[in-house]
Amino acid sequence: MHSKRFFAHLLLAVLLTSCTALDRLRVSPTPVINLDAAEQAQVTIEAGLTPSPAPFQFVLPQQGAEPISGWRPPLYPIPLAKTSNDHFYFARPIAADQVNWPLPDYRYGGVFFAGVVHTGVDIDAEEGTPIMAAAPGTIVWVGWGLFTETPGYIDDPYGIAVAIRHDFGYNDQRLYTIYAHMSRTDAVMSQHVETGDVIGYVGDTGATTGPHVHFEVRFPDNSFQDTYNPELWLVPPQGWGVLAGRVLNDEGKVQPYTEVRVISQETKETFLAKSYGSGGAINPDPYYNENVVIGDLPAGIYRINITYDKKVKQTWVEILPGQVTYFTFRGLDGFTTGLPSYPTLPFVPEALPFTPTPLP
Ligand SMILES: [Zn+2]
Repeated sequence: MHSKRFFAHLLLAVLLTSCTALDRLRVSPTPVINLDAAEQAQVTIEAGLTPSPAPFQFVLPQQGAEPISGWRPPLYPIPLAKTSNDHFYFARPIAADQVNWPLPDYRYGGVFFAGVVHTGVDIDAEEGTPIMAAAPGTIVWVGWGLFTETPGYIDDPYGIAVAIRHDFGYNDQRLYTIYAHMSRTDAVMSQHVETGDVIGYVGDTGATTGPHVHFEVRFPDNSFQDTYNPELWLVPPQGWGVLAGRVLNDEGKVQPYTEVRVISQETKETFLAKSYGSGGAINPDPYYNENVVIGDLPAGIYRINITYDKKVKQTWVEILPGQVTYFTFRGLDGFTTGLPSYPTLPFVPEALPFTPTPLP
């Protein structure tokens, strides 16, 4: 069941560690991955991966969530922000009559291969499925070369990609969304698009062996280093909500690669995610400061389990419709629930004055 995505990420891993990546680095002065050797080594150890002399050896990602119902209610209209901390500003790039939710096995921040971090979410869709603008904005990238910032570079792992600079910002910063691996795009540079406008079609260009759309949220710059977890930005289905949390060790430091298991009291359905680290291209939300997110949870009561130091800790939370429910986990002290207590940020998606930026 993992094979398509698995091999897609294997291929990406190979690309990023092969001569191709070196060639690409020669093509572009922009560093591709910001993890230095020490960080990569740390990632490897923290992820529990076995160091191996074979450069392309890998460890299978753990079994993901149980298969879940393909049905989703219609999405809330955007923008949705029921609390002052939320920013569900984006519709989904795939129509609601298709699978339009992120694959639970390949979430943001996951390290599926040593040193390769997933900077977006993947939505499975068939080849040729229309890809739609997630919100109004201006097309600022079309075609090959997004990753390397080299227009026309056909070995670019994003394949044929489109970037949109949105008409509104967040916290006075520009917002961008990225759509990658298209079979083709009809978008043109500087074109203005509205939510739902078709900007391209699902394909498997770039570092993938199966059709899907890779979707990213970036701010304040359209840079690989400025990604945020799209599950905190994509509007949920009506009546559904999102769980976000911060998983720390006993010393209060970020604890990555820890399995968070969430079980619905009503249906017993289990949802899994792993906490992520920060640094490199992975950034926590300015308000939530999270390192794990599970979107698309029907409203209701859930039990959260985390195993730490061989002890199972658990708590109960209520997922509220259209909102983020938040928890903090701190090692053997276990859980606290409730929103982060530091001051809230302005949240209204104000239109920013249009300031043309040099196009690549
Ligand atoms: Zn992806």
